[in-house]
Amino acid sequence: MQFSAVIVAAGSGSRAGGGKQWRPLAGRPVVRWSVEALAAAGADEVIVVIAPGAQAALDAALSGLGGWRAVTGGATRAASVRAGLAALACGPDQPVLIHDAARPLLSDEVIARLLAALETADGALPGLAVADSLRKVDDGAVGDSVARDGLVRAQTPQAFRRTTVEAAHAAWTGAEPPTDEAEAVRANGARIVAVAGDPRLMKLTYPEDFAMAEALIARRTHVGMGFDAHRWGPGGSVWLCGVEIAHDQTLIGHSDADAGLHALTDAILGAIGDGDIGDHFPPTDPQWKGASSDRFLAHAAGLVAARGGRIVNVDVTLICERPKVKPHRQAMRERLAALLDLPLSAVSVKATTTEAMGFTGRGEGLAAQAVATVELPAIS
Ligand code: MG
Repeated sequence: MQFSAVIVAAGSGSRAGGGKQWRPLAGRPVVRWSVEALAAAGADEVIVVIAPGAQAALDAALSGLGGWRAVTGGATRAASVRAGLAALACGPDQPVLIHDAARPLLSDEVIARLLAALETADGALPGLAVADSLRKVDDGAVGDSVARDGLVRAQTPQAFRRTTVEAAHAAWTGAEPPTDEAEAVRANGARIVAVAGDPRLMKLTYPEDFAMAEALIARRTHVGMGFDAHRWGPGGSVWLCGVEIAHDQTLIGHSDADAGLHALTDAILGAIGDGDIGDHFPPTDPQWKGASSDRFLAHAAGLVAARGGRIVNVDVTLICERPKVKPHRQAMRERLAALLDLPLSAVSVKATTTEAMGFTGRGEGLAAQAVATVELPAIS
């Protein structure tokens, strides 16, 4: 089903320490989570409503993403939502999800339930059952219990057809603005249903909520592999896994020809599905001539971090008859561990010969292969 979305990111978030929509959650700015989730679910357009002066912060938070536009909000949440609705390009019957940026962990499943509910209802919101008993407390003294039958905790997004919610805002006559769109739409005589919410869709209100939300994010393990080979040529030393070894030959290549680092960089890129080392550092680009391959590895590790992921372990095998790798293995592990900010126990370097067979056996070149394990956050 086609749909549009409005994300309200105009609040000051003072209880969470201010500007919580820009703060990182598992490596990604809070507002980015919702924009990515809505785009991945197929939103035709995403309008992000921001406070005056927040455009630069939003641009930074959403850099590299498409499909969104920003508008400036108003003094109240209702005014901000109206500004977001007015900026939509969709037709009057299009479903619109109105969402709070402070609820970043939006799953495909919740979006699908909301859209399905609009087939028969005028509006829908995710609701969570109340499990705890509810009690009134007056000045610290526990008083009467409150019946929790029929109560749900309302989350966002709230879903309506565009015309339904715009008409409700236009018809609102309350002295105060409506607390949310459901209140306005109900007051205008429409029927809203609750669909199953998601505990992960918690609202980030207090500073400690960030740690709780991070703990709720599932992580998936991804594995990548890399392979590289370079030809031997005249020289006096060779770079392998970031360590320079005195040798009577060197490896020939556009950069420093460190096949170990190249294979490992490709393994990390493979784990995150982001192409290969040649895509990121084209050999035709003169700036990488003679480059230290440290920077290729650091770039790949940075891409993992930018996705909120972490490298779990890496394993490199160097394949050659000479030089002897074993005396340098520990230095190589320490160098890789430092470059990737990993404990030594998560970094393995091994070596083998091919018993004089093949191009490595004949001494024509050296080959390296690598495996990397990466954990990436996953919502759906
Ligand atoms: Mg290479």
